[in-house]
Amino acid sequence: MDINSAPSNLATAIRQKALSLGFTACGYASVADVPDAVMQRWQEWISQGKHDTMSYMERYAAVRHNPQELLSGAQSVISLALNYYPEQKLPPQNPRLAYYAYGADYHEVMKEKMQQLVAYIQSIATCDCRICCDTAPIFERYWATQAGIGFVGRNSCLILPGQGSYFFLGEILTTLHLPAAQPLENACGDCRRCIDACPVKAICDDRTIDARRCISCQTIENRGDISPEVAAKLGRRVYGCDTCQEVCPHNLHAKPTKVVAFQPREALQTLTYKKMRELTREEFSAIFRQSAVKRAKYEGLMRNLSYLDARLFEE
Ligand code: SF4
Ligand code: SF4
Repeated sequence: MDINSAPSNLATAIRQKALSLGFTACGYASVADVPDAVMQRWQEWISQGKHDTMSYMERYAAVRHNPQELLSGAQSVISLALNYYPEQKLPPQNPRLAYYAYGADYHEVMKEKMQQLVAYIQSIATCDCRICCDTAPIFERYWATQAGIGFVGRNSCLILPGQGSYFFLGEILTTLHLPAAQPLENACGDCRRCIDACPVKAICDDRTIDARRCISCQTIENRGDISPEVAAKLGRRVYGCDTCQEVCPHNLHAKPTKVVAFQPREALQTLTYKKMRELTREEFSAIFRQSAVKRAKYEGLMRNLSYLDARLFEE
């Protein structure tokens, strides 16, 4: 039985629970059709081939257009952000990984916390819920903006005011009616630091990323060869790229995550480029067990290493 079904009371209780579970932000948006302009920008991105080999991005237009296709009767999107900014950085001489890949696979960590939140919601209100954690075709940055937890920067990342962009996003669709937030305005101003800093000029004027050039997409999602033009710009990067976030002034005061699972694994502390290249499949599986790095697979990691300057492998 509902303890108190007034939407504002439910909203407060759900947000408090979300924060107690470790989420930095929890906002609500009303489910409605995604505006034509947003759909059009996605279609243009696809038709220009900027999604590269991520063919899954082409599908499910109807679902992307309205999340009720994912949960019948959905009335609200609960948008959640979980901080992954690591307190401890890997030594600068070690293979360079994107911060988000330092620790445990975020899908598992997020899903567990979201399941706990759903259990709580369903203990105080009668409703259906569906969890989306990179597991459903939903425009999550659009919904996060609608839910008032952030805005999309020129680097295409969701930026939480005062907190920065080192956050994983997740959504809970629910049949509950929750009071919708006021969407936030973009606060990039005249800044173009991310565009200037991107080593491969992958940031487009319409705040999208050209995945054919982006080092993050190429070292993680691409299963084939990396183009010579992009390979020449990898620098020390082995998996992912944080450059357009590192230069963002909104990340100047990023606070470290409290999620222990996102701290760098011990094995990474002493893993040199040479040792990484000599890993067997079994050793790779052991070191990166339940890690986001497994997405690139053993072959992907070895391929990325094969493009790097030979001097990095001298110990
Ligand atoms: S992740 Fe790196 S390569 Fe991709 S857009 Fe950002 S700076 Fe450019
Ligand atoms: S670096 Fe500047 S332009 Fe790029 S996302 Fe951050 S504030 Fe916006």
